[in-house]
Amino acid sequence: DGFIWLDGEMVPWREAKTHVLTHTLHYGLGCFEGVRAYSTEKGAAIFRLKEHTDRLFRSAHILNMTMPFSKDELNAAQCAAVRENNLDEAYLRPMVFLGSEGMGLRADNLKVHVMVAAWSWPSYMSPEAKELGIKVRTSSYTRHHVNITMCKAKANGNYINSMLALNEAIASGCEEALLLDNEGYVAEGSGENIFIMRDGVLHTPELTSCLEGITRQTILDFAKELNIPVKERRITRDEVYIADEAFFTGTAAEVLPIRELDGRVIGAGKRGPLTEKLQGMYFDAVKGKSEA
Ligand code: PLP
Repeated sequence: DGFIWLDGEMVPWREAKTHVLTHTLHYGLGCFEGVRAYSTEKGAAIFRLKEHTDRLFRSAHILNMTMPFSKDELNAAQCAAVRENNLDEAYLRPMVFLGSEGMGLRADNLKVHVMVAAWSWPSYMSPEAKELGIKVRTSSYTRHHVNITMCKAKANGNYINSMLALNEAIASGCEEALLLDNEGYVAEGSGENIFIMRDGVLHTPELTSCLEGITRQTILDFAKELNIPVKERRITRDEVYIADEAFFTGTAAEVLPIRELDGRVIGAGKRGPLTEKLQGMYFDAVKGKSEA
């Protein structure tokens, strides 16, 4: 129950439907965001709302989809989705997709639809995972060209790759996948950016084969605040094996320690001190307890 914002109106949850011939359902051209609202002293607050809306508009632009709403309207829609559903801690899913007015790749009469759904989803990963870290497997699926050339867009089609990688990791007893790029360098998780800490320096892949993560940027800002040197560069898989600490970042996963990759224990095999520090700073920031 509740409401979903669809094309400018609040629609009852069960009535927010789309046709089976929805173009995006067939060909995958669409984009979306994953946004979160946290309960703060001042009520529910959407973390990094502007950044997520800006990225949604950049994604649509890359995919050559003309947004029928302004950024202000989309920001207001996200606030309304939290408010009208009486949510406190919430996950928000704005999505831009093509309608069912035409079929085939050459269809040029398609309407661009926009929706924002919000629901209560307090934790994507278990509290134990956040504290103890997770086991990860390097995926046999790589971030291929469509991901790499479109890594600035959070595009629906990119997630086929993510889903296959994640399913494979789970089937082999791990909790998350690590995807490499076409040349074998570390790219990202199925829905997270990765960081490693070695000899006091924080490393994260440069933005050539991974999504321009908003949490990634938040962590880079924290590192600057803490005077921790950061290198954005290509990382190899063996560097992750021998790192002192490793963690994933993402709106859903937040700051998530990695304790094992491909059966190799990373560092002390548990959440490292810097990971714990950054995790704490992140939780304070989302809860509105710091300036970040
Ligand atoms: N990489 C991928 C493939 C993602 O889907 C996400 C999630 O949005 C991220 C990284 C992390 O991005 P963000 O921190 O903006 O949520």
